[in-house]
Amino acid sequence: MVSVAANPSRQFSPHSRVAVLLPLPLAGLYDYLTGVESLQAGDFVAVPLGRREVIGVVWGEATGGVAEAKLKPVIRRLSCPPLPAISRKFIDWVAGYTIAPPGAVLRMAMSVPQALEPVRDLVACRAAVVLPEIKLTEARRRVLRVAGDLPPLLPADLAREAGVGPAVVKGLLEAGALEPVPMAPPPPFASPDPDHPGPSLSPGQQAAADHLRQAVAGGFSVSVIDGVTGSGKTEVYFEAIAAGLAAGRQSLVLLPEIALSAQWLERFRRRFGVEPAQWHSELSDAKRRDTWRAVAAGTAKVVVGARSALFLPYKELGLLIVDEEHDAGFKQDDGVAYHARDMAVVRGQLGGCPVVLASATPSMETVANIASGRYTRLHLPDRHAGAALPTMDLIDLRRDPPPRGFWLSPLLVKAVEDTLAAGEQAMLFLNRRGYAPLTLCRKCGHRLQCPHCTAWLVEHRGAGRMVCHHCGHHVRPPTKCPQCEAEDSFAACGPGVERIAEEAAHRFPNARIGVMASDTVTGPQQAADFVRRVAEHEIDLLIGTQIVAKGYHFPLLTLVGVVDADLGLDGGDLRAGERTHQLLCQVAGRAGRAERPGRVLLQTFQPAHPVMVALTSGGRDDFIEAEAEARRLAGMPPYGRLAALIVSGPEAGAVDDFARKLARAAPSLEGFQVIGPAPAPLALLRGRHRRRFLIKVRRDVALHGPLRAWLAAVPAPSAIRVQVDVDPYGF
Ligand code: ADP
Ligand code: ZN
Repeated sequence: MVSVAANPSRQFSPHSRVAVLLPLPLAGLYDYLTGVESLQAGDFVAVPLGRREVIGVVWGEATGGVAEAKLKPVIRRLSCPPLPAISRKFIDWVAGYTIAPPGAVLRMAMSVPQALEPVRDLVACRAAVVLPEIKLTEARRRVLRVAGDLPPLLPADLAREAGVGPAVVKGLLEAGALEPVPMAPPPPFASPDPDHPGPSLSPGQQAAADHLRQAVAGGFSVSVIDGVTGSGKTEVYFEAIAAGLAAGRQSLVLLPEIALSAQWLERFRRRFGVEPAQWHSELSDAKRRDTWRAVAAGTAKVVVGARSALFLPYKELGLLIVDEEHDAGFKQDDGVAYHARDMAVVRGQLGGCPVVLASATPSMETVANIASGRYTRLHLPDRHAGAALPTMDLIDLRRDPPPRGFWLSPLLVKAVEDTLAAGEQAMLFLNRRGYAPLTLCRKCGHRLQCPHCTAWLVEHRGAGRMVCHHCGHHVRPPTKCPQCEAEDSFAACGPGVERIAEEAAHRFPNARIGVMASDTVTGPQQAADFVRRVAEHEIDLLIGTQIVAKGYHFPLLTLVGVVDADLGLDGGDLRAGERTHQLLCQVAGRAGRAERPGRVLLQTFQPAHPVMVALTSGGRDDFIEAEAEARRLAGMPPYGRLAALIVSGPEAGAVDDFARKLARAAPSLEGFQVIGPAPAPLALLRGRHRRRFLIKVRRDVALHGPLRAWLAAVPAPSAIRVQVDVDPYGF
């Protein structure tokens, strides 16, 4: 399964050949001459590639594909520590499993080129006295203004701050208008204190924590904390982190929405006295660089991050935790298609360290691994401090419909009124951003569609825009129908959170309403602020999409109303039932987490659906058993394996031609079924036409070998892309 083999300790003497892996999306290994220095596997090196200089990693023996006379020498070795052998093995493994070029995986591990330069080579710039003979362009003036206002910055950071190209800064340095100053070393990451007092655990929590402490002392294992919402799973895995800290090793916690996890960070600080190192897309470049280095040096002891934190170069990782392990946010679909939970287990195995998965609604994959004895289940059946689980009831929309043009049924309206009258908080949940998902012309029926995608434009009334949720394309709402030219004929169909907020303002005129969706609450700061306003009861009625479902703890929140519980059940997604069940359990878990009991009302047109029955009669185990049985019979994951191939290109005809060619070359093997080509779920995305093959393989039949051979046999023309997705989601 491994496509290139990283050799852990190999030395390469001067004037020999080595293979270097470059962090480029399509790259494999390139051979170079070592030059005068000796090199070892894992060394970061600068090498020539065409006219460019690229930083890569010495991977192993030369591949030998190029004649010696044509080989170029390595330019220099960087003085940073080498990429650890386990990181290299992990990159190889991920590349092999996902059938991605290893260079694309290395790119995820090397997201911070500046981190590789030695500290003493990092030079910051400070404004110097400007000599009269220096010509000052507008761009130069901007740089000098920024340099005067801010503490010394690296040239690249200074250029970005000033909004100019790097050459402008370089020119000013050469002219002496900026002077170099040594970069101050970054402040070290404070060490979390494992002996900082934590809460005293309940007997159930204690038993689970004891198990984890033992696991941390051993090698690879996978434990699953399966505990209802509010059972205190976080406090339990904090004990595992404490044990890891006491043993002097690093821990990684993966969260699905790290940028929105202010409450989680606050709890960590309470337990360990300081904040952990963080890793996510909202970090500044400087922070990113410091964190990358501190992880490599082993001084960042606990890292909490999004899925990409898996690829950091840990010096001595001793524990991996995946919180909300069922969350689909751990699956990356584009670029290297990988599932961070599954790759965390692989990383634990390669590094010989324990893995902890936590969830109130474990994924079917994890359930199957518990059943087969590969994973150990730690069960927390009760909420902390005796808080009761919320009661869940259905509102049958066929019998109790909202008035025409409204979305909240009389029963739900009454429940919200009662809750607010009691001085408590309520939440209305609808997993749909914007005002309305569909806008159509009342005269001719024309629907407003994205020109680049097979998708409707979603009205965002607050922003005054019609937006494609797939490619971001947006336009002003048209005043005239582009088809029949009728004026003001457009009607909004169906609700999004904005429309629910409008209805709520009308129904509950005295309530203070707050809307939380990924387009209204965009960064960590806004999220933290919103959460604070709810926690301090500046908001009575909270309206949100799935980002409110995640992990928050609001003691006064006692009612959750799910506006459309059926949303997500339709469509051909294998996991539709599972995911709807998980999401609704998660949302319901926000209600009644403290002394006051919670109540959940689910508006549905399908009260007899197994998901609704499972939610309201507490039959989670029955639901899982039925779901497992259906998947087993159909040979679907986790009992069979699935891969998807998406063939895409700008011209539909060429895409179809190539897809047919692929189909003709498909392997015909027992237990290896190729379905398609068929239009992909988004048959047009960002202007590319997409066709899909699904490959369904029995558990006991090899997937990777035949798949790789098939793809290699039919090379794609340059305009066509073939994306491989092993264990795809959304199908
Ligand atoms: P989960 O992650 O299982 O939903 P949390 O870990 O968020 O549950 O815990 C729910 C609430 O109970 C949090 O406010 C947490 O601080 C509190 N809590 C959990 N365990 C304890 C404990 N042993 N002592 C005091 N408070 C606790
Ligand atoms: Zn689009």
